[in-house]
Amino acid sequence: MKRTLVLETLKQVGKEVKLQGWVDTKRDHGKVTFIDFRDKTGKVQCVGYKMMGELTTESVIELIGLVKERPERLVNKNLPTGTVEIDVKQYTILNKAKELPIGVDTDGLEIKEEARLKYRYLDLRRERMQNIIRMRSKFFKAISDELHSQDFVEIETPMLTESTKEGARDFIVPSRFNPGKFYALPQSPQQYKQLLMTAGFEKYFQIARCIRDEDLRADRGFEFTQLDLEMSFVDRETVMKTVEDLVKKSVKAVGAKLQKEEFPVFTYAEAIEKFGADKFDLRTDQEKEEGVLAFAWVIKFPFFKKVDKADVAEVRDGKSGWTFTHNPFSAPEPEFEQDHLDKKNIGKIITAQYDLVCNGYEAGGGSIRAHKAELLKSTFEIMGYSEEEIQHSVGHMLEAFEVGTPPHGGIALGLDRLVMILAGEESLKETIAFPMSSTGRTSVMDGPSAVSGEQLKELHIKVVKKEKKENKK
Ligand code: ASP
Repeated sequence: MKRTLVLETLKQVGKEVKLQGWVDTKRDHGKVTFIDFRDKTGKVQCVGYKMMGELTTESVIELIGLVKERPERLVNKNLPTGTVEIDVKQYTILNKAKELPIGVDTDGLEIKEEARLKYRYLDLRRERMQNIIRMRSKFFKAISDELHSQDFVEIETPMLTESTKEGARDFIVPSRFNPGKFYALPQSPQQYKQLLMTAGFEKYFQIARCIRDEDLRADRGFEFTQLDLEMSFVDRETVMKTVEDLVKKSVKAVGAKLQKEEFPVFTYAEAIEKFGADKFDLRTDQEKEEGVLAFAWVIKFPFFKKVDKADVAEVRDGKSGWTFTHNPFSAPEPEFEQDHLDKKNIGKIITAQYDLVCNGYEAGGGSIRAHKAELLKSTFEIMGYSEEEIQHSVGHMLEAFEVGTPPHGGIALGLDRLVMILAGEESLKETIAFPMSSTGRTSVMDGPSAVSGEQLKELHIKVVKKEKKENKK
């Protein structure tokens, strides 16, 4: 007998069906036992006479039963399958559930993070999490379908790479074959996507995982997912228009309502003057209640800023006391190109950067890039890099920019954040199947963990134990 899905039972009245899924709830009345039976399509009431009393909630069962129309007065209007019920003839327990360590029948927000992440496979069973993760999948599909339809090529870039200069601290991985040397995990595919433009792909995208060793915040882990794209022979307006259309289509595909069909554009100076920040919320209170999305663009950011001495990555990148505000691979706006090359009026140089803002959050950012070697070189010179340091950091980019690299620009959108906004959630963790905890520990599995002496030896690594500071009283 073929499996019938819960929602399909509506069309099977009078027939015998085989269902496979979970015991959602059980009400045992002695002679009669009712269960709400659940699969990926929903729930349906099943009735057993002198059977099913032994079932525990969340057990996986298979049952065969007759689909019956419910009498008018017993119709459950709260359930899509509320007009039918299954008269169970026989069932088999496929996997018996013990008492669960966490409940799965609430929205879960009342349960401690540690327990939710330790038992994430259970936590994900709750309806709220099922809806978010399924919506995320639908949203990603809408994005990728649209980009494919516009001739974008989906290309993967390496995970084991060299430092990508995104302004955060790198995660590093020891190389067994090169004792004492390390790979860096990508903070973004920035340089590779630009090299794909040199390679002639013209339109690239990737739903990319980025890894940055940043200080953890309650809602942020070390990994995140971004839609990364890059295009050749484009100006700022073309990229912004492409992204705006894409964002509109894909958020509508998951039912979102937009405040404005055309996203307003603010300069950085206007944004600071008007909102006191470069991310802001344009919604009215009523729009907030209705879950409306208010997107806006911010352009004309300063290219450089003074190094924040408390920020390790900034101090490392900004050797001269100047560092980039957004992206060292950006071009200056055309009218600032000469100053950029002359390293004059540094604080006044404006970058061809654009940020997408949504409901008070930064939803993404990108730029038209420096595609000429002397311009990129000048950026690093302004930050105080020596010729040797420049060659070491971006020599490969400078080389690529001398063999026919088209003008290009792109963007990256933070997809976890967009899903969070779409789902009306307040933490990025609610949008990721297996997020990291607030203290940087992995879901379900116990990472980071110690490795064996044997592994360390192979990697030529010695762990120096941190001396415990003596408690002076
Ligand atoms: N690589 C940048 C980032 O991840 C985005 C971009 O400029 O495309 O922030």
